[in-house]
Amino acid sequence: MEQPNTKPVAPATSRNATLFERAQKLIPGGVNSPVRAFKAVGGTPRFIQRAQGAYFWDADGQRYIDYIGSWGPMILGHGHPAVVEAVQKAVLEGFSYGAPTEREVELAEEIVKLVPSIEMVRLVSSGTEATMSVIRLARGATGRSKIIKFEGCYHGHSDALLVKAGSGLATFGSPTSAGVPPEVVQHTLVLEYNHIAQLEEAFSLHGRDIACLMIEPIAGNMNFVRASVPFIKRCRELCTQYDALLVFDEVMTGFRVALGGAQSVYAQSIPGFKPDMTALGKVIGGGMPMAAFGGTRAVMEHLAPLGGVYQAGTLSGNPVATACGLATLREIQKPDFYDALGARTRSLVAGLTQAATHAGVPFCGDSEGGMFGFFLLGTLPQNYPQVMKTDSPAFNRFFHAMLDSGVYYAPALYEAGFVSAAHTAEDIEATVEAATRFFAGR
Ligand SMILES: *Cc1c(COP(=O)(O)O)cnc(C)c1O
Repeated sequence: MEQPNTKPVAPATSRNATLFERAQKLIPGGVNSPVRAFKAVGGTPRFIQRAQGAYFWDADGQRYIDYIGSWGPMILGHGHPAVVEAVQKAVLEGFSYGAPTEREVELAEEIVKLVPSIEMVRLVSSGTEATMSVIRLARGATGRSKIIKFEGCYHGHSDALLVKAGSGLATFGSPTSAGVPPEVVQHTLVLEYNHIAQLEEAFSLHGRDIACLMIEPIAGNMNFVRASVPFIKRCRELCTQYDALLVFDEVMTGFRVALGGAQSVYAQSIPGFKPDMTALGKVIGGGMPMAAFGGTRAVMEHLAPLGGVYQAGTLSGNPVATACGLATLREIQKPDFYDALGARTRSLVAGLTQAATHAGVPFCGDSEGGMFGFFLLGTLPQNYPQVMKTDSPAFNRFFHAMLDSGVYYAPALYEAGFVSAAHTAEDIEATVEAATRFFAGR
């Protein structure tokens, strides 16, 4: 069960299939988060038994090179010794207290040190909670109701944000979720990503009613699409001009694309650039349920118990999760961590691009730090409608060919991919070889 995969192709999926049958009887769709169900790509989801480094193994003992990394958190790879040790130590000291701990203070200090736009921070348990809470806080602090989001950006599954959201919803071809009353989303303006003129128009019409603009600066829930520098610059200028808060949803990009998050990448092109508020998740928990939101002191002081905006959580700042997150944040601060991770990720995208191009298949990709995306398209899309032009049956064939070769990409073409520090040059080579075989055999 634990031996590395020596079979080159086509695992028997019997135990995965049996588990999936059992799961479907009791869990809607057999999964606890929709995109895991393989609904977009077809086939039987793999039930994972264990993971180590850059790999995980399914119920049939098949090994996969893991390019989802728990959808972002596992930036060090699985089972990093320093993280395991920190978690084991924390567990022995108790699972949860419901009272403050020193580690929460340490973690807050780390976050504030690494992300200069954050002056105060609050810990929560999921990215959904972080973005939902930021919106309440933005509305409470500004006394305004409207919010701006962009088509194809996903900000978790809270009601006000499930408006033509990307990711799982886009995969299932549904523009909004059932169960969200129209009144709840009537204050949410959904605009096209990277469309400056439309943004200007929205502000000129509604600017004084807008509490915040929320954006994934590098969108990872419509595969991988960067906001252009002029677009981010305009977002900043308009928010400042109209006293609206600029919120960066860095649940995915935070500590993933760079130590200072995507905001530090944009600050290289826009001197002095800062968002007002930031949502964090994924990497900050290192694989444990933890997320955070923070920003300027003036805004954060509106939160209870200091201010009138209510927000709370039984397991917020959980002592085991903070141990895991802190150990992870300490590892990623080691010298050259992001240089090495970025180079490895770029080598994957370059290798895949070369394999496809060599076979005459339209293909392009992009990456930043340890996050990447690729498209079966000739040029990189700039917004959601362009992403939608991807040939999804072709993507599904690619996905299954890779899976059969022991390479696990996200089971939907609307998802970004992730490389960890545990991925070796040999892992990338094996991945590119598998892709080369697929493209050559088409
Ligand atoms: C994953 C994600 C969320 C939601 O986080 P959960 O922990 O799944 O609730 C929000 N925003 C972005 C950008 C994400 O990638």
